[in-house]
Amino acid sequence: MTTTQNTYAYPVQITQRVTITYDASPAHVGKLEYAVDFIVPENTPILAALDGGVVDVKQDSNVGGEDKSYDTQGNYIEIQHAKNEYSIYEHIRQQGSLVKIGDKVKTGQIIGYSGKTGWIAHLGPHLHFDVHIYLSNNPEDYQTLKIHWKE
Ligand SMILES: [Zn+2]
Repeated sequence: MTTTQNTYAYPVQITQRVTITYDASPAHVGKLEYAVDFIVPENTPILAALDGGVVDVKQDSNVGGEDKSYDTQGNYIEIQHAKNEYSIYEHIRQQGSLVKIGDKVKTGQIIGYSGKTGWIAHLGPHLHFDVHIYLSNNPEDYQTLKIHWKE
């Protein structure tokens, strides 16, 4: 098991109405083992979990659902941090990003709004979050890390 070297803040404001789940999603297997889902209503503000630079954004999709076939249609924001760790925020709503590739962001900054695009399985609208490292230049060759959360 590998833990993040950086310490991350939660990517949504945590209230009694937010459920945090690591293993409810059928997608959280293999390289996504340490991903976490925050069950939140659509349009919940998403917060940068750490200072970093935006490296990828997809926000053109308006499609999502329970079937795995929706997997490639999810919108997301990906941020690069120190130590070559990357965080990703998935299922954001169409045109739900407030940032673009190349932007610098600060911990806690609102970067977008949650939604239900892509493969959301049985969870309903939620924010998928994980921290990963790349093992080669192939974007599919990554592994998630157990997240060290900021207290
Ligand atoms: Zn997830």
